Amino acid sequence: MSNFHSERPTSSRGIVEDDGKLVRAEGTANHVTRSKNYEILRRAFREYYFNHGNSIECPKELRQREFGFRHFASEREPPRMIRHLTFASEGEILATAIREVPCDIYCSNAYYRFPSYPMKEKELLGADLIFDIDAKDLNLSCRNSHSYLICENCLQAIKNRQGLDRCQLCNSQNLVVESIPCNKCFDGTKNEVRRLLTVLIDDFGIDERSIHTYFSGNEGFHLYVVDPNFLNLDAQGRSDISGYLLGKGLIPETIGVYRRIGIENKKSTRTIHGTEHIFDDVLPGRDFHIMAPKSDEKRDEQMNYSIKLPKSGLKYGWQMRLSKRLGIKDSSEKRLINIVQQKGGYYSFKIELEKIGKELGINIDPQVTMDVHRVFRMPGTLNSKSGLAKTKCSDLESFNPLYEACLLGDSETKVKANAPIKFTLKDQEFQVDEKIALLPAYAAIYLVCKRLATAI
Ligand SMILES: [Zn+2]
Ligand SMILES: [Zn+2]
Repeated sequence: MSNFHSERPTSSRGIVEDDGKLVRAEGTANHVTRSKNYEILRRAFREYYFNHGNSIECPKELRQREFGFRHFASEREPPRMIRHLTFASEGEILATAIREVPCDIYCSNAYYRFPSYPMKEKELLGADLIFDIDAKDLNLSCRNSHSYLICENCLQAIKNRQGLDRCQLCNSQNLVVESIPCNKCFDGTKNEVRRLLTVLIDDFGIDERSIHTYFSGNEGFHLYVVDPNFLNLDAQGRSDISGYLLGKGLIPETIGVYRRIGIENKKSTRTIHGTEHIFDDVLPGRDFHIMAPKSDEKRDEQMNYSIKLPKSGLKYGWQMRLSKRLGIKDSSEKRLINIVQQKGGYYSFKIELEKIGKELGINIDPQVTMDVHRVFRMPGTLNSKSGLAKTKCSDLESFNPLYEACLLGDSETKVKANAPIKFTLKDQEFQVDEKIALLPAYAAIYLVCKRLATAI
């Protein structure tokens, strides 16, 4: 590693996890527990890098990437994030991982001329396009049933109780939520990934072989588009793509419904002057609208649009999704007229489209896609939020994150759970209560990473 000694601890404001969260401070958790957890986690992570070094997937153009290491919180120190690292080879990354045992290893999606320099001096050469889909953003109904509130101060864990704002044991308000994702969570996220893949391939014409899907190692998936056409896209371009995927900014014109200005002008002038004279520059939405006689206003509002179906038809992209959802065929202007009429005219129809956009939009995290200076968890490395590995999904359908990404050893490990918990790993169901439990290392580490158990 060329500049490991010029370590540059970043301020907590600048440390961004791959899921966009700020790295949490460890609070004042009991020192003995912290020290024992530190030992058991480091041992397990080192063993992983020793045995599974070949799982680490190095990025293209290794020497142009910025790397980041986050180190475990120890008895003496809170977790430390070090960025702006560079490596010359895959072997060097692995050797450093085994020697240093970081809890998380990150790599930039960006390519830089000088990756080890401070951000402003790096000289951006391009960046892969990355999308992040996370179970926590999908509003799944199962979520509350497997979430826990953890007190950062005394480590007390309780089944998530909404509205609780302080620890019942020590009164601290330093509470965080941890979740044990279930199969429904993974089915929901995989479904969202499938929808994203379809749009990237069909609407953007991206070759399926240029899209790589990874399980993040905790609750989500990352999609990497490695395609030279998107390499030099700036933050605005990436933000536009995110907006399109999220279904933001859909307007009636998208499917051929246009606002008729004449009608509104007529209404406004009649209201003010009582004449039929039309001022072209009167804009809709001005206060005097509300002065219109009710019956006229309703009629005019319903008539304030015209329809001209797009020449290209309604076969692609959002035109296709909207027309399908509204039950409109290519040639059926009449059906569209009825729908707009029923909704109450152009503006009410526009609001309806915004709702449909939200419903059919894909739940990506737009900040992740937009930011070209972010570092992402490196494929094949462990996620310290779970002890699971970030893993490539060659077959999304059959991919089982709680089996295939669970790669730690199975030596018997003693832990004490902080709450009664049921969970499944490697097709085995575990049920622990608040007593000391002997678990295979992968299960024990999973609970310790989730802060639902402590090492004994
Ligand atoms: Zn507490
Ligand atoms: Zn769930």
